[in-house]
Amino acid sequence: MPTASTSESTLSRNDIAAWPKAELHCHLDGSLRLATMLDLAKTQGKMNVLPADSVEGLREILRSIDDSETLEAFLAWFRYTIPLMQTKEALHRIAYELVEDNAQENVRYLEVRYGPILHTEEGLSLEAVNEAVLAGMKEAERDYNIKTSLIICGLRDRYESASMRQAELAVAHRHKGVAAFDLAGGEAGNPPKGHVHAFYHARNHMMNLTIHAGESWGPDSIHQALFYCGAHRIGHGITLQQDPELMQYVIDHRIPLEICPTSNVQTHVVPGYEAHPVAYYAENDVAVTINTDNRLFSRTSMTEELWRTHDRCGVPADQLREIALNGFRYAFLPHAERQALLETVLNDFPMPPTDETPVW
Ligand SMILES: [Zn+2]
Repeated sequence: MPTASTSESTLSRNDIAAWPKAELHCHLDGSLRLATMLDLAKTQGKMNVLPADSVEGLREILRSIDDSETLEAFLAWFRYTIPLMQTKEALHRIAYELVEDNAQENVRYLEVRYGPILHTEEGLSLEAVNEAVLAGMKEAERDYNIKTSLIICGLRDRYESASMRQAELAVAHRHKGVAAFDLAGGEAGNPPKGHVHAFYHARNHMMNLTIHAGESWGPDSIHQALFYCGAHRIGHGITLQQDPELMQYVIDHRIPLEICPTSNVQTHVVPGYEAHPVAYYAENDVAVTINTDNRLFSRTSMTEELWRTHDRCGVPADQLREIALNGFRYAFLPHAERQALLETVLNDFPMPPTDETPVW
């Protein structure tokens, strides 16, 4: 492979669109197409769920999500999607379309996450919910050049018994497309250690673990996620920099952060892209990955998030290349599969390594 002589190359959005990409942090219920939301509301007789009756109207209203004062206010927007996701047909379609949309921007590996319990309001069992989502993802995987995995989320603002049930579901499907167990929902007042038994159950069955932590709460949430719950990756981790010793541990043990810049700006956990710590983390060798969080609510894509990370957060081109490849390096896949995928991606990657490229 040729080596570029300088790390100072500049990138355009089109360059990034052509890169093979991986997405590790994407919520199913936050990533619907607007047209699909409208279509589902019409066919299910639930137009009263939506705040507008046209794609343009919905697009306009959804812009005010940027005014969410807190993570909890942001999460309240899911009232527009979850009621439309209560049938097997809807779940299958939404899962299929999400994989399709990713494949069309050259995402080669996608991890989708969701809380199955949110989709049992009209009588579906947890198993039926999960099988519909997996079937939609697998069908799209056959139609496009993309590999996918599913992550099941426990919900931190519910009783631990509910998280345990989700962990059991994840374990039961661990060789059938479910790659990991996560903890999502409002972080303030709901620390990871409140769900320690659910994580112990998942860990004891050798599940991969990721936990939303240090997003709208301090580094003690990350500390609990790692040391009480055994997380292998951290969702967001924005406040990690407040605890230098913990940050050094995260660097030394190559614990990846799943960073979602636009979502962090929308939930006001950072004042703006320019103040986002991602450039500081990348510069200090934290294993950073970039992700969308929610394609619909954050009005974004993998191309757009990587572009904003470069253009607005100030991550230089050579570091952005490594961040994009980290999405493959830290995928929740068996080691041999991950190596094979990374090899294909490196062969196809249009930007060569530089003198600054870390040794792997
Ligand atoms: Zn998330």
